[in-house]
Amino acid sequence: MYRPDREQALAKTALALMGECSVTPTPENFELFYAFASGENSAVASVIGPLIAARKPITAELMQDLRMRYLTSARAARSMDHVGSGINDVIGTVLGRLEAAGRDAVDYSNTLSAVTGGLNGSQSPADLRKLVDGLIAATREMENRTKSLEGELQRSSEQVVELRSKLDNVRKESLTDPLTGIANRKAFDSAVEAAVNRPKGEPVSLLICDIDHFKKFNDSWGHQTGDQVLRLVANCLSDNVKTRDTAARYGGEEFAVLLRGIGLMGAYHIAEDIRASVEGRKLVKKSTGDILGMITISIGVAEFAEGESAESVIRRADACLYGAKHHGRNLVVHQNDGRMAALEISAA
Ligand code: GH3
Ligand code: MG
Ligand code: MG
Repeated sequence: MYRPDREQALAKTALALMGECSVTPTPENFELFYAFASGENSAVASVIGPLIAARKPITAELMQDLRMRYLTSARAARSMDHVGSGINDVIGTVLGRLEAAGRDAVDYSNTLSAVTGGLNGSQSPADLRKLVDGLIAATREMENRTKSLEGELQRSSEQVVELRSKLDNVRKESLTDPLTGIANRKAFDSAVEAAVNRPKGEPVSLLICDIDHFKKFNDSWGHQTGDQVLRLVANCLSDNVKTRDTAARYGGEEFAVLLRGIGLMGAYHIAEDIRASVEGRKLVKKSTGDILGMITISIGVAEFAEGESAESVIRRADACLYGAKHHGRNLVVHQNDGRMAALEISAA
């Protein structure tokens, strides 16, 4: 229900809190703070609540992470609810009609029994005529009801087809990052879980990619152009992986790729292709035609050991990414790269 006083108060609170926590007043950030102020999203509250209480600054990365984790899934859950209640309605209608059809069939069968029972060979032609007329009328009635049931079931089945496709869209939406159109963190997490439970002997590798000096790029060209870069990098990832792999937006400007059936060196070569394809793209600002220079990414590559947990592989790939940044960026570093040994942070 729309309650203007309450909603205005929530909006004011959200804005005031954003100011106190030095959060940029973008519509997306406002949505998160509004969700917090309304108390309707306990997951958001449990993460930013303590930071707000302590009036700690909330970083852009954390805001981004919260949006990706909680708001998109809350939206998907709402759409899912909507489709779910549609399905409930159709099931209710179909069940109601089937019950009525069952009652109709019993009535018809009772009429037939009554007629058969009434036939004893001694009826006059006029009585027989009446019985037959009664039979014809009951049969017509049954025929009409069956036809109307058929029509209703046909309509219900069309509704089910429509709902199924809506459900499919909601499911896809809940697994897609809206900005780049590739898999989101949630989809990535479940792909990783499936990889952890892979058949014995199947190699699986992981790439973690991060855009180089992206903060500087945003500062020079603005966030919107930055978002264009995120789409470009996502395209380069998708272009270089197969459908059984998962290329996902892992965080703000971080991407992850899960490669099924591919060992460390195979993954390294794919990562090199991705790195080179990002480097090779010419960036032009659409609105002005300005040439924006080159964008590069760094990539860490790790291979899952047999029975290894997701956290452990992610940590190793992250360490390699750190290695790539440390050694100058625009670089791919894998877990057995000799350059990792020189770093304090180990890939093991
Ligand atoms: P490095 O080479 O070490 O990775 O440097 P960096 O500047 O990329 O790293 P840093 O972690 O300092 O900054 C990441 C930046 O990414 C901060 C933020 O401006 C930007 N960013 C994160 N998410 C988004 C987003 O959704 N859109 C845009 N345009 N920028 C984002
Ligand atoms: Mg980063
Ligand atoms: Mg970066």
